[in-house]
Amino acid sequence: MKLQILVCGAGIVGLSCALALARKGQRVAVLAPRNDVPAAQSDVYHPRVYAISPASQRLLDELGVWQMLPSARIAPVQAMEICGDGDGRVDLHAWQAARENLAWIVESGEIERVLIQAVRMFGIEWLDDRCEGWLEGDGPHKQGGVVVTAAGRRMQADLFVGADGAASRLRESAGIRHQSRSYQDTGLVTHLDAERPHQGTALQWFREDGVLALLPLPDTAVGPQVSMVWSMREAQAEALLGMPRTEQAAELERRLAHAAQGRLGMLRVRSALHGFPLSLDQAQMTGPGIALVGDAAHRVHPLAGQGLNLGLGDVQALSEAVSRRERFRAAGDARVLRRYQRARAEPVLAMRLATDGLHRLFGAQAAPLAWLRNAGMRWVDALPFVKRQLIEGASRN
Ligand SMILES: Cc1cc2nc3c(=O)[nH]c(=O)nc-3n(C[C@H](O)[C@H](O)[C@H](O)COP(=O)(O)OP(=O)(O)OC[C@H]3O[C@@H](n4cnc5c(N)ncnc54)[C@H](O)[C@@H]3O)c2cc1C
Repeated sequence: MKLQILVCGAGIVGLSCALALARKGQRVAVLAPRNDVPAAQSDVYHPRVYAISPASQRLLDELGVWQMLPSARIAPVQAMEICGDGDGRVDLHAWQAARENLAWIVESGEIERVLIQAVRMFGIEWLDDRCEGWLEGDGPHKQGGVVVTAAGRRMQADLFVGADGAASRLRESAGIRHQSRSYQDTGLVTHLDAERPHQGTALQWFREDGVLALLPLPDTAVGPQVSMVWSMREAQAEALLGMPRTEQAAELERRLAHAAQGRLGMLRVRSALHGFPLSLDQAQMTGPGIALVGDAAHRVHPLAGQGLNLGLGDVQALSEAVSRRERFRAAGDARVLRRYQRARAEPVLAMRLATDGLHRLFGAQAAPLAWLRNAGMRWVDALPFVKRQLIEGASRN
């Protein structure tokens, strides 16, 4: 079977990529296990939520899916309070950069559900199968390769897009260079009932033992709600994850009372606790007739809530490189792929350096560094221009 473009993977990045390419007139098919997401029930929230940046919101809007999301399930973020482990603190407000919102918190399941609907409405072919491997072609640069599926199909395409997540089968079988460093941290996520309203403010504490974020979610019948993302050392997280449910909730609430400094009053666990291993990954973003997007291409620490936003930035850049190519070039032409790679080099490197740098700075125990990180935060907080740059920077991915 010969296609123009085959997108392997149907997470948020893969589906957005298929849609973006199809909307620019490319012939696209998706190869991934089908995953129908049922409509959300009121007051039951998907365990994974994402901080969607203004650039990602614009892309989802252009793809026609932002409008399909139920507005009652979206929590706009108008402000951020970031606290250090001493007296350092940075407050960011949307109005400092003349914006209405800094970001929006949206459930993963809701974004996937509307993307699946849009892909279906657009008539994009979806092959309910998996990428099992990639066989190199016999062109001078190994182009003209074939994807072999779990069901034994052999699929040819001008361009294969690897959107099959952090353990990308396409990347591995094509031998695309990839480096991974475990943070030996786990990201714990759950939703909490809060005693006090969050007022559209995302709260974050950089602590010696990890990073705690409380993200605003829509109120439920019992009152204000926030989503917790707490990255902590693996051993501590595993001990919590291994506890019986009631003991676990009590222990988590006890630790939150200390770490969140009573900012939202009493916090009560309202959903199951999930853990995600954290690592810093970077692949060479292209191979022969292959472009990697999303977690297949890179992973960063979630302390800035930017992994998915980086992936959606890849989608924007790849769909532009492919749709603006010269007429005589195929979608997977080496020059088209080089343009894509060049467009993503700087934003991906900048995000890697920023998130990894912050992780190292706050992980360091030495007293001068502890002073420096808190002094740095006080300094940033006093400079409106720097704060505006921070907001603009976080909006661009
Ligand atoms: C704790 C935590 C909090 C986070 N918070 C944020 C945040 O607030 N904002 C943000 O921007 N990012 C955040 N991230 C990052 C974000 O979760 C990821 O960057 C994003 O989910 C990656 O999406 P993806 O589509 O590339 O990969 P995935 O979501 O992993 O999707 C991969 C898809 O490929 C399919 N697949 C797998 N193998 C195959 C195969 N062999 N063949 C075909 N299909 C296959 C899978 O079924 C899946 O559908 C967070 C991450 C963590 C761990």
